[in-house]
Amino acid sequence: MCIFCRIISGEIPCQKIYEDDKVLAFLDIKPASVGHTLVITKKHYADLGEISEEDLSPLIVVVKKIGELIKTKLGMAGYSVLNNNGTAAGQTVAHIHFHIIPRTNGDGLITWSQRSYDPGEEEEIVKKLTS
Ligand code: AMP
Ligand code: ZN
Repeated sequence: MCIFCRIISGEIPCQKIYEDDKVLAFLDIKPASVGHTLVITKKHYADLGEISEEDLSPLIVVVKKIGELIKTKLGMAGYSVLNNNGTAAGQTVAHIHFHIIPRTNGDGLITWSQRSYDPGEEEEIVKKLTS
C-alpha cells in the first residue's frame, strides 16, 4: 500500500484539513511554506494520466476550496497549485496529489528558468500536438 493510502486508512497519522467521501486534504509534512497542503483522492491513482474524469472533478473542486480557505484564513497574498506527474517531474509519492502552497509577495518560492523558441520551433510543436 502506498504511503498516502496508509494515511487514508488511518495507519499513518496526518494533520487533516478537510475530508469527504472521495477526497482528503492534509498538511504536507515538509512544507515549502506554513500551511502547505496536499489534496488527494481516497481511491489510489498514480497520477493525472490514471485518474478518472469522474474522480478528478471533486478533487480539483476541493483544491479550489482549500486554496481559498488558506488564503483567507491564513491571510496569505496568494497560493500556488502544483501537481507533479512522474519522477522526472519531481513526483516522489505515486498517489495523485495537488500541492497548495501558500504564497507571500516576493517569497521567491517557485521559480523556473525560461527560454525562447528557435525559428519554426513553435509551429513544429503545435503541429505535433494537434495532428
Ligand atoms: P511530490 O514530490 O510531488 O510527490 O510530493 C510528495 C509530498 O508528500 C512531499 O512534499 C512530501 O513532503 C509529502 N509527504 C510525504 N510523506 C508525507 C506524510 N507522511 N505526511 C504528509 N506529507 C507527506
Ligand atoms: Zn495510494
